[in-house]
Amino acid sequence: MADECTHLDTIRRVTPSAKGCEECLAIGSPWVHLRLCRTCGHVGCCDSSPNMHATKHFHKTGHPISEGYDPPEGWGYCYVDEAFVDLDSPTPQRGPIPKFV
Ligand SMILES: [Zn+2]
Ligand SMILES: [Zn+2]
Ligand SMILES: [Zn+2]
Repeated sequence: MADECTHLDTIRRVTPSAKGCEECLAIGSPWVHLRLCRTCGHVGCCDSSPNMHATKHFHKTGHPISEGYDPPEGWGYCYVDEAFVDLDSPTPQRGPIPKFV
């Protein structure tokens, strides 16, 4: 595991913005896995999903760390350093995840 991430001090406790990928829910699109932004709480979908909203969120905002979120597994990924990071406190889900698949 690469551990060269220099953004660990940007990790915050956040409130998830939605139970599933915000943008996919809005357009009725399926996703594969969810990612939670640990800077602002945006919930997006992973790069295996058709719309890759978590990566788009990073490009739009520069928020570096996203957490694997379906379910929370205690790891995060830094888009800037392309490194996985350990999270001390996985974010609890707000409720059952809506599924399209
Ligand atoms: Zn980093
Ligand atoms: Zn999405
Ligand atoms: Zn964010």
